[in-house]
Amino acid sequence: MAGEEERPERIVVSVRMRPVNAREAERGDGSDWECTGPTTLMFRGAIPERAMFPASYSYDRVFSHECSTRQVYDEGARQVALSVLSGINSSIFAYGQTSSGKTYTMVGITEYSMSDIYSYMEKHPEREFILKFSAMEIYNEAVRDLLSPDATPLRLLDDPEKGTVVEKLTEETLRDKGHLLELLAVCEAQRQIGETALNEASSRSHQILRLTVESSPKQFLGRGNSSTLLACVNFVDLAGSERASQTASAGMRLKEGSHINRSLLTLGKVIRQLSKGRNGHIPYRDSKLTRILQSSLGGNARTAIICTMSPAHCHIEQSRNTLLFANCAK
Ligand code: ADP
Ligand code: MG
Repeated sequence: MAGEEERPERIVVSVRMRPVNAREAERGDGSDWECTGPTTLMFRGAIPERAMFPASYSYDRVFSHECSTRQVYDEGARQVALSVLSGINSSIFAYGQTSSGKTYTMVGITEYSMSDIYSYMEKHPEREFILKFSAMEIYNEAVRDLLSPDATPLRLLDDPEKGTVVEKLTEETLRDKGHLLELLAVCEAQRQIGETALNEASSRSHQILRLTVESSPKQFLGRGNSSTLLACVNFVDLAGSERASQTASAGMRLKEGSHINRSLLTLGKVIRQLSKGRNGHIPYRDSKLTRILQSSLGGNARTAIICTMSPAHCHIEQSRNTLLFANCAK
């Protein structure tokens, strides 16, 4: 329509295949998948129920095992992350089974984003920027501050203006890039303390790193003062997607019930609703993860979902579940 600006996609969905690892190669467990183009993926494996299994898949971007994290960032996440500089909230998720490459992908994406944000600030000396960083982990629906040694679960409060806020969450104002690296090291250490105490913690917990950017002109040039921008970008390393799969929720064994991850299931429901563009009820309030991210999901916010996959034949079921999730998010 005349005068209407081109609007970028609200939800960008990519799939990233990691390389076959040494263990898989050793037992001859090769790749079932072929990335046939920048947006397409084909299943090449031989399985008995082949007829039930779609052979070709397409997403906004497909990254083969040869693609670098730099490429994944540039083509699958950069635009979404940098919308924070225009005052638009965003979330970037890594979704996939344990050991498919979520952390590997998110660590790189977080670094590249931060680096781009700092270069942008250097190129805009006419504006003043305030960067704030916070980090949390959600484990069994308990929220923990990754910048504090105190492991007491944090409460979520409803603020009439800000929406859901995490009470007492540490928020550090960043002095410079070096300060940020120090804080990332603190998070990593806090996370590892949790992992030795609780088995399999990283496959069950979600990590959210949040950067808030506030900027305003250093001096008003006489045209009003409405030019302060405030937004946040969330880097989310999700729990292993096997925690929300059919086999987990069908309750094969009773004790497996505890493997189901409420935040992951609810995120799936929320993303599905949003991607359909429905205005009806979106169940943000059903989990801690979606409550915390509500203002950065849907509405005007931008979302990138990077679905990570193992190519190995032994992971076929989980790979299929991951692709089903990616299909629904589109
Ligand atoms: P997850 O966080 O999903 O459990 P990780 O990111 O820890 O998985 O990845 C599992 C292992 O595979 C790690 O040793 C990681 O370094 C390696 N890995 C993952 N993705 C890649 C990739 N694209 N290229 C090379 N190695 C990778
Ligand atoms: Mg991980």
